[in-house]
Amino acid sequence: MTRTTPPRPLDITELFPELREHSATATRLHPRPGMPTAADSSVGGPLLWPADEAWPVCIDGDAHYIFRLRTPSTVRRSREIYAAAQARADATGTRYALTDEERAQLPGLDFSEPHSLVNQPISLVPVAQLYRRDVPDFTGPDGADLLQVLWCPLDHPEEGYNPRVRLYWRQSADVSRPLAAAPEPPVVNDSYLPTPCVVYPEQIREYQYGGLLPEELDARITAWEEETEEESDDEEGIDYQFDLSLAPGWKVGGFANWSLTDPHPVDCTECGTAMTLLFTADSGEWHGSGGSWRPVEDPAEAPPNPTDVSIGRGYALYIFRCPVSFDHPPATAMQ
Ligand SMILES: [Zn+2]
Ligand SMILES: [Zn+2]
Repeated sequence: MTRTTPPRPLDITELFPELREHSATATRLHPRPGMPTAADSSVGGPLLWPADEAWPVCIDGDAHYIFRLRTPSTVRRSREIYAAAQARADATGTRYALTDEERAQLPGLDFSEPHSLVNQPISLVPVAQLYRRDVPDFTGPDGADLLQVLWCPLDHPEEGYNPRVRLYWRQSADVSRPLAAAPEPPVVNDSYLPTPCVVYPEQIREYQYGGLLPEELDARITAWEEETEEESDDEEGIDYQFDLSLAPGWKVGGFANWSLTDPHPVDCTECGTAMTLLFTADSGEWHGSGGSWRPVEDPAEAPPNPTDVSIGRGYALYIFRCPVSFDHPPATAMQ
């Protein structure tokens, strides 16, 4: 099984050859629910972690912004219930509905576990594990063949009310005695607990966000967009930002889409160098059921958010690394 991004509606470099200078590859991960093992690349799957290395925790306690706390097992149980109801509806062609018994097992919308639980050490949760062999756009220190992305699954005010990310690069052969089972946090924000997914990496090409192109080139692209919009029958035309330049969804490498706030510099807190995009966690894999980025293997009714991760109001969390040193801390931006 693979996942294949449909060809773009047109090759934008035929119209604007200069864009080749503002281009990069990215690897779309195409996460889909499954049962990955620690030997697999995954989103939200088990990590190959040395048994003698302490599992990272967050001890920010009261400094977290506390919203609606759930235990990881409650989150998983709720998702099973919703999935069962959906499967029933699909199989019988009836309207999606929960049974009374299922409804009774779901926590109320406003329910929260006791807030004091955030004062315990919060074990970080696995967000992604990527083996170099699977990801064409993998970058890491020499010799490293494994990148592990973890985050604290609670809201951090100093991170723009997002999870706080930590990155680990390893040489998988060094992990001779792997940890059998990772510790779990007592509570999470359910938006930050990924459903375990296998990945179907696919390399694609991206073009820089319009606002970061030379001004003159950006202006010509905008003028062309307006022109095609006028000419097209459905008054939609083709959009550089949505259809031609940047892929939505979980990916490695490529460029950030700055459409929420407009671009702002992301510089390393350690050395001041401008950082590069390493990894993207997204709230959706494509824009709507007619989205041009939906892989050809996925039907129009396929759920667009297979990981169940949600960033802000359906945005993406961009994770940047310092090009000077893999030891410098990552930075994030929500867009
Ligand atoms: Zn935290
Ligand atoms: Zn740096």
